[in-house]
Amino acid sequence: MAEDCVFCAIVAGRIPSTKVAEDERTFAFMDINPGSEGHALVIPKEHAPDLLSIPAEDLAACALMGQRIAQRAVAADGLGADGVNLVNSCGAAAWQTVFHFHLHVIPRYAGQPGRDSLQLPWTPAPADVTTLPALADRLRP
Ligand code: 5GP
Ligand code: ZN
Repeated sequence: MAEDCVFCAIVAGRIPSTKVAEDERTFAFMDINPGSEGHALVIPKEHAPDLLSIPAEDLAACALMGQRIAQRAVAADGLGADGVNLVNSCGAAAWQTVFHFHLHVIPRYAGQPGRDSLQLPWTPAPADVTTLPALADRLRP
């Protein structure tokens, strides 16, 4: 647990939250400033600042919990969403504001602006394909 971490405080119950689910490694709760109806967050119970530092077992557990909640978001007897975005922001430059790893599970509703006002945050444009091999080389783990 990290001092002054709002999500550690939520796991510990020192800050109230609306719980969706939990398991041995993860805790899921409703986002207080939702981007769409039913926007939830999945976090590891053990503090890790971000995607680069979270242990593999906790990352896998968060992904699986995210999948389970996404399935409920889409289910007819759940939220009846049309799709889901799983989003992680890693680093302030990538819009991360809380430095305890979290997955956003954001249900999406086609043609229902009252439930979903999200916009694609970039303008898709064709790549200069000649640059792609060198970029791929530099990314390769
Ligand atoms: P980030 O910007 O780091 O990707 O996402 C942080 C998210 O945490 C935001 O969507 C924000 O609304 C949510 N959040 C921040 N503080 C709290 C809180 O105290 N309770 C809940 N439920 N969500 C929070
Ligand atoms: Zn924390």
